[in-house]
Amino acid sequence: MKKAVKVKALNFSTSWSYAPAPEAADHFQLKERYDLFINGKFSAPATGKYFDTINPATEKKIASVAEAGAADVDKAVRAARQAYEKTWSKMPAAERGKYLYRIARILQERARELAVMESMDGGKPIRESRDIDVPLAAAHFFYYAGWADKLDYAFPGRRAQPLGVAGQIIPWNFPLLMAAWKIAPALACGNTVVLKPAESTPLTALRLAEILQEAELPPGVVNILTGAGATGAALVNHPGVDKIAFTGSTEVGKMIQKALAATDKKYTLELGGKAANIIFEDAAIDQAVEGIINGIFFNQGHVCCAGSRLFVQEGVAKEVLRKLKDRISTLIVGDPLDKNTDVGAINSKEQLGKIKALVNAGIREGGECWQPACSLPSRGYWFRPTVFTQVAQSHRIVQEEIFGPVLTVQSFRTPEEAVEKANNTPYGLSGGIWTDKGSKIFKISGKIRAGVLWANTYNKFDPTSPFGGYKESGMGREGGLHGLLPYVKLS
Ligand code: ADP
Repeated sequence: MKKAVKVKALNFSTSWSYAPAPEAADHFQLKERYDLFINGKFSAPATGKYFDTINPATEKKIASVAEAGAADVDKAVRAARQAYEKTWSKMPAAERGKYLYRIARILQERARELAVMESMDGGKPIRESRDIDVPLAAAHFFYYAGWADKLDYAFPGRRAQPLGVAGQIIPWNFPLLMAAWKIAPALACGNTVVLKPAESTPLTALRLAEILQEAELPPGVVNILTGAGATGAALVNHPGVDKIAFTGSTEVGKMIQKALAATDKKYTLELGGKAANIIFEDAAIDQAVEGIINGIFFNQGHVCCAGSRLFVQEGVAKEVLRKLKDRISTLIVGDPLDKNTDVGAINSKEQLGKIKALVNAGIREGGECWQPACSLPSRGYWFRPTVFTQVAQSHRIVQEEIFGPVLTVQSFRTPEEAVEKANNTPYGLSGGIWTDKGSKIFKISGKIRAGVLWANTYNKFDPTSPFGGYKESGMGREGGLHGLLPYVKLS
């Protein structure tokens, strides 16, 4: 008979650490100043104004970026209209598809510099931008390239026609991926585009503009305008725009919905979330703990579908919390360009302020706040991975989207209680279920009011899958076959 061997648990956080493994940033050249991309060319803004985009990990300026005003928006919308009428909607669909394939291939060729640029401008770990953002951006162009000449199969028996000019406004959490997510289906269906990236992360969209030039996309088919909320509002209110696609906060989404209420513009809104991860007693606990970490900490919680609320069945609650804290203590917080980094920089000073304010409110409301003792760099915007216990459903920290590396943990006894708690927020974007039983997955997922549910995994994306929310998380679906619908008129 074999003798049982006792294995002592290793404390990775104190026993050893990784040597720095920084990704090189000297293999591409950034410009000092970026202009607006209108009608296939870069041109100075009519406003004459530029703003700085900074590296949130160092607080150093990376480049000056043009601020588009109403006259620039008008110029871009006119360029898009002309390109729509004269070129893009007239082109055979298979030819449109070829451009999309070409863009996808160049994105793949430039993957390394795009990943570095994304991490520099936005603060996310290079591992995320290299393995998730950039490959998925290329995959979206490949996927929708395939649909361009097959719309008759997407909508059998009906005729799909483009809408015209799409105004697209995107946030700072997945700058290149969101641009691809929005541009690729719009172009595949024959629309032209005016895209506005977020003011804190404009660089990869501007590099994408250079890639569009390299792909020889006809002028005006895609126009890229940088600027902040006022630029976005001018685009939303421009009478020459046929459709608005917005991803961002619920607050701004509601403003946009109001502005569009009395118009015949189509719109899709992808807004906030407060996703619940539910761990049942029969789950593979170690796998679940790793999934929870991936869902909220690996991208600083800067994901609208971040699993920011955890519900654990009572019998395993203590074990899960202990394992969670052990694993969090091993996370490496720091330089986004280091390949070992798990948690990068918070995207902006403003966002860091929002996270701190909500965490302080959580403490004031009686929550117990736990953080690992990791050291943080002296410059830049950082926040330690944080776990809240002793919280109630009514606490702000449980109800409001935080967009930071902060997890609340609550327990439950019965599946019914888990469902009720999970559904108890104004949001309904995503969620996760961890259990050994397939039947439980089907039963519970049917009751959770959220657009995307992962089972025994988390934050997995694919261009073929639709994405979108219930309740205040938005309306309309992006991705997959469903993602074509918001860009066509069916007759
Ligand atoms: P976040 O809180 O994620 O920064 P926002 O909703 O503020 O989300 O920003 C998402 C995008 O919406 C950004 O590109 C931003 O510039 C733009 N934006 C902000 N305010 C407005 C507005 N009033 N109208 C249109 N776009 C806006």
